[in-house]
Amino acid sequence: MTMISKKIIKSKNISNASTDGWLKDHCILIKDNLITNIMPESDLPNDYSQSHEIIDLGDSFALPGLIESHAHFQFSATPDAYKIYFEESDLQKMERAKNNAKTALHSGVTTIRDLGAPNELIFPLKSLIDNEEIDGPEIFPTGTPLTIKDGHCWFFGTIANNSKEICSIIEKQLKLGATHIKIMASGGYFTPSSNPRISQYSFETLRDVVNFCNNNDTYLCAHTLSNESTKSCIDAGVHNIIHGRWFDKSLDKSYKFEENYSKKISEKGIFVDSTISKHLLEYESKLKGEKQRKPNPNVIKSEPTLEEIINIFRRLDQDNVDIIGALDMGMSQAFFDKCVASAWAHVEWLGFDHWKAIRSITSLNAKALKIDNYKGSLKKDYVADIVSFSNDPTLNIRNLKTNPSSVIKAGKAIKINGQII
Ligand SMILES: [Zn+2]
Repeated sequence: MTMISKKIIKSKNISNASTDGWLKDHCILIKDNLITNIMPESDLPNDYSQSHEIIDLGDSFALPGLIESHAHFQFSATPDAYKIYFEESDLQKMERAKNNAKTALHSGVTTIRDLGAPNELIFPLKSLIDNEEIDGPEIFPTGTPLTIKDGHCWFFGTIANNSKEICSIIEKQLKLGATHIKIMASGGYFTPSSNPRISQYSFETLRDVVNFCNNNDTYLCAHTLSNESTKSCIDAGVHNIIHGRWFDKSLDKSYKFEENYSKKISEKGIFVDSTISKHLLEYESKLKGEKQRKPNPNVIKSEPTLEEIINIFRRLDQDNVDIIGALDMGMSQAFFDKCVASAWAHVEWLGFDHWKAIRSITSLNAKALKIDNYKGSLKKDYVADIVSFSNDPTLNIRNLKTNPSSVIKAGKAIKINGQII
C-alpha cells in the first residue's frame, strides 16, 4: 500500500487566515507538510476520498499550531529547577529535554523558540526532532546565551565582556545553527549570584551587537530587568525585549518605569515578552498553598506588586506595543504544556480580546520569530500545523485547554480526537 500524502482535515470551525474569525464547515487540504487549500466542505469534488486521507475533527475549533516564544528545554519547571540542574548528569538533562519536547507537542505547541540552553543539548535535541526520531515541536534554538562572569545563567551561558568577544561568539553560534541570539542585558532572578538591578552590558555594546546581528541575518533577544538595562535595550533597538522590567539600582526602591519609553518601544517595533503568564501560574499555585521558588536576594524586600507589573504592560498595550505570548517554560510553574496560559493572562490580566490573545500565541509569535511568511496562520502554502479544541476559546479563553483534542504538526497527525497517534 502506498502512503497517501494528501489529507483533508474537516472541522466545524476553522480560524480564518487572519486569525480573527471562524470559517464554518470548511476543510483544510494538505499535501505533505503544507496547506494547499482551505475551502467549504460543500465545494469538495466527489471523488476526493480516493485521493485523500480524511481526518474529521467534528465539532471542534481548529487554530494554527501554537507557537511558544520562550522556553528552556533543560529545566524542570519546579521551584527547585536551579538545584536539579546541578544534580543531573548530561544524559539526564537530555532525557528531561526530550520529555519536555513531547509534552509541549501533545499540548498543541508545534513550534517553539528556545531562549537559552547548553549547545550540546539543544542542537542534538533539534536534530532528533527534525529527523523524526522523537516527538517534539520544531525548535528555533539560540544555544548558549551571552552573559558575564557569575552573571545571569553563567552555568550554561558563554562569558563575553565586550562587543568584540560577543560578536565572535555569535559567529560560532550561527555556524552551529542558532536562529537568533540571546543576551543577558541585566542580572536575573534565577541565578543567585547575579543581580537583577544591574546592567551586564552598556548601551554602546548592545548597539554594536544589534548592528552585528542585523548584518548577519539574525536578531537579538535581550533579557532585561533593570531600569537602566531596559532603557539601553530599547535605545539600542533590540528585536525582542525579554521580561522588560524596571528595577531601580537601589534595594529600597522597586521600580522606576519611565512612561515615555512605552511609545518608543512601539515606534521601534520591538516585541515585548512579558512572561506575565508565568506570574499567573505562580499566583494560582500560591493560592493552592504549593511550594514556590525562593526569591533572589537582590530583589527581596522590594519586589513590585502584581498590580504594578500588570499596569505597565497594560500601558504598553495601549501604545500598541506587540506583547507576545511567552511563558519562560522550564522556570518554576512554567510547565511545558502551559503555553495557553499566555492567552489566559492576556485576556484576564491585560484585557485583550479573545482573538488577539489567540494571535499572541500563534501569528504574532510567528512574527516575533520572523517565520510569519510560512507559519503561524491557517493559510494556503503555510506549514500544516493545526491544533483543535472541543469548546470555543473565543467565548471563554480557558477553553484553550492544556490537552487539546487534536494536534497536527507539518501535516503529520500527532493526536486526533483525543487519541495520540
Ligand atoms: Zn527565560
